[in-house]
Amino acid sequence: MKSSNILIDVNKTQCTTCEKSFYEFEESELSNCPYCKEELTSYNTKSVEDKYLRIVINHETGVITAHEEDEHFV
Ligand SMILES: [Zn+2]
Repeated sequence: MKSSNILIDVNKTQCTTCEKSFYEFEESELSNCPYCKEELTSYNTKSVEDKYLRIVINHETGVITAHEEDEHFV
């Protein structure tokens, strides 16, 4: 099967101000909490878990799929 794939780092982060958690990309971190709009700094965020998202393009069908992977599969 002809396909290309790329692995993207996704971080699950918790805002300690409102205690809600959200996902953000490693290379594109949020500057404000999506829930309480508080400015996010290293003092009010807590890393919950790291995930990897594998984006696969199947060149025979043209279909793009995303697979969530745990850290230990990398
Ligand atoms: Zn918040």
